[in-house]
Order: sequence, then structure tokens, then C-alpha cells
Amino acid sequence: MLVMKFGGSSVANRAQIEKVLGIVAGRASRRPVVVSSAHKGVTDALVSAAKVAAAGTYEPEAVIGRQLSIARELGCPDALLEPLFAELRDLLRGVHLVRELSPRSLDYISSFGERMSVRCIADYFTREGTPATAYDVWDLGFITDSKFGHARPTVGFAERARAAYAALPLDCIPVVTGFIGKNERGEITTVGRNGSDLTATLLGAALDAEEVEIWSDTDGVMTADPRIVATARNIPYMRFDEAAELAYFGSRVLHPSTLLPAMECRIPVRVLNTNRPAHPGTVIQEVTPPNPNPVTSIAYTENQSVLTIGSTRMFGEVGFVGEVFAACARHGVVVDMVTTSEVSISLTAQGNAALGLAAEELRSLGTVSVRTGRTVLVVVGQHLATRAGIAAEILRAVAEQGVNVEMIGYAAGSINLSMVIVDADVARAVDVLHRTLFD
Ligand code: ASP
Ligand code: MG
Repeated sequence: MLVMKFGGSSVANRAQIEKVLGIVAGRASRRPVVVSSAHKGVTDALVSAAKVAAAGTYEPEAVIGRQLSIARELGCPDALLEPLFAELRDLLRGVHLVRELSPRSLDYISSFGERMSVRCIADYFTREGTPATAYDVWDLGFITDSKFGHARPTVGFAERARAAYAALPLDCIPVVTGFIGKNERGEITTVGRNGSDLTATLLGAALDAEEVEIWSDTDGVMTADPRIVATARNIPYMRFDEAAELAYFGSRVLHPSTLLPAMECRIPVRVLNTNRPAHPGTVIQEVTPPNPNPVTSIAYTENQSVLTIGSTRMFGEVGFVGEVFAACARHGVVVDMVTTSEVSISLTAQGNAALGLAAEELRSLGTVSVRTGRTVLVVVGQHLATRAGIAAEILRAVAEQGVNVEMIGYAAGSINLSMVIVDADVARAVDVLHRTLFD
């Protein structure tokens, strides 16, 4: 069997859902399980309705009207979603009355996007001659812990999913909610924003799928951000470890944690374009044919901060680095890059309030400075650690553009070279690196 996940833009409206139907019907013999996001923009609209309710304005009709117009465009009967609309109005009324929005209520409200979209899609598929049934993913055993906003399935999920799947009728395509789940008490949870990809790989792993397809609106994973590099091109295949580096550093195609379940079960993940279904996209798997390019891709994440702590106490001392990281951990700072010298440590993290608090605490250990507006740029490729001169080539290329590199990470045997530059230099650096390494 095959898991096919469609993102919000793939199911944005009737024109897109027609394409989805064509793609799914073409794979009917492979027993697809379809996982769908909410229609584009609906989750955002639900979150905003929840927030304005908590702030004193009861305004459920904007998001309901939006959903209803997509349902009507698809020819679905109004009665299909009436029970969900009624539930959503009640819920928003409740939040409005108590003026309080807990993570639990926010997950509950956010869940309506997927619950509504799968019902419309299955109804439309069936009327168009491809019998389909909508499922809330908990009907396939997706019972989670109670970490609202980042819930994960509990032990036994794979067994529950397999038992539920075995009982499904063979002649009907299941269309399943991404993003959401339910805890043992029956309270609705979510796996986190943009989490439908993760639902798809978790289901694929549990059901031992031959492949997980992630359908979105780009031709797979690209060698660089196509908005910056006009000559960016598709990467036909890449290894899980390469894809994981890219997802993490913001290539914006895959959610970082998405690949883990597929990686553990060695299930290939294929990234495809709903608008160009004949394009082969990118397949991510454990073993790939050798890549003729010296590198695989260039990615970056902007708006980072660099924290540097200098102290002569560090020199020859035991445990100093540990103290620095313990302070970061206490404030929930997620550290990305790290470099150390005899008397200083620099680390990068998202520039947020948590980092400010950690910096305050670290002042008791030494002199602390925080530089903001920085970008972590990474070049990813299997040959980075083995090909002589490639790091020099990368650094020379950016230097010749007058881009100053403030920090470098290049570990033993690593498949990525990371550098910190100022945000304003990103386009120049990415462009020259792409020209040097790909063109
Ligand atoms: N609908 C959810 C969101 O917008 C999940 C997803 O699209 O993957 O975050
Ligand atoms: Mg999305």
C-alpha cells in the first residue's frame, strides 16, 4: 500500500481537488491511503477565530463561510458539515465566554480544518466515481499523548493502525485527517503546525507502506530556494541524512521531524508536485545512486542570533561548556551551531525571549554578547568530508562577493558545512554558491 499526503495548497479549492482526484485515481491499484491537510488558509482562520474569541469577539462565521464556499464549489450537500459547524460555534462561544484559550482548546479548534476537508474530499471523490470514505485519524488507531500542540502517538499505535486498516473495505479509498489526534481521554490533540506530513510518515511506517508520497506545490526538493536562484533545479534523489539537514535548515519543503518515522522503517519518501504530476519530484531514501554533483543542496535559515560567551575561567577548566548548555536548556533555547575556542564559546539559536533570558543568566559566567539578524547557511552533500578543497572553494566563493563569514561549522565526516553571515548577505551568498557548485 501507498500513503499519499496532500498539503493545504493541493486541496485549496475545487480546481486543485480535481487534480488530486486524478492523481489518486491513477494509483488506485496500489491501495492508497490519502492523508489530507485542511484547505489552504483554513487552519490559520481557525486559530485566529480562537484568538479573537478569547480576546472578546465571537466571530465564527468568517471561517465557516470560507469552508462552506469550498464545500458548495465541490457540490457537497450543506448537511455534510452542519454538525461540525454547530460544534465549532459552540466551542468558540465557550472560549468567548470564559475569555481563555488553553493549548487544549486551541488544538480542539484547530482540528476542524482537517475534519472538514476530508469529509468534503471523500464526498466529492465518491460522487465523481471514485468511492472514498473520510476518517478521523483516531479511527485508524492514532491515539496520542496529551502534549497539546506537539502530541505523538502512544505505544501500540502500529498494532492499532494495522488492525484498523485490515478492517477497512477494499473497494473504497480512505481519506484521512492529517495533523490531529486524540488522547486516551478522548480530547483532541495536534502534532504541531504543518504536521500533516508527519501524520503521513507515521501512518506509512505503521502500515509498512511501500512509499510515502508528499504532494505539494514544488517539483520536489530543489538545489536552492527558487525565489533567490533562478537556475535552482530539482534534486532527483537524496539520502535521509541529507534531507534531514535540509529540512532543518529551512528548505521549506519538509517539516523537520517528518522523515524520522520513514527513516527508522526505511520507507522511501517521495516529494511531488500536484500541479505537475508527471514530474518525478525527489525521492528520499536510505541508499541512493552516486550523486554526480559535489554537493546536494544549499539551504538557510534567517533571523538567527549568535551568542558568544568569553571567559578566562574556561581555560583548562572542567565543566564550563556543560554549564553554558545547562543554562540554555533551562530557558528552552534550541542551540543549532556551536564553536569553541580556549576562552570563548559561540552558539546560534533563534533570536527570541528565551535566548535573552539565557544570556542574562550566562553573564555570571563571563562576558556575553548577542548579535542578531544572522543567517545560518548550510551546504549539504555526501562528498563534503571527503573531497579535498571543497570547503576552500565554498569559502572563497562567498569571500569574493565580499560576504563576511562570522562562524563556521564543519565536523568530522559531516555532510554539511554551515556558516553564519548577516541576513542582508543571504541572496548574494546563495546565488554565488549555486553558480560555483551547480552551474
Ligand atoms: N493544517 C495544518 C496547518 O496548517 C497542518 C498542515 O497543513 O500540515 O498547520
Ligand atoms: Mg500546510
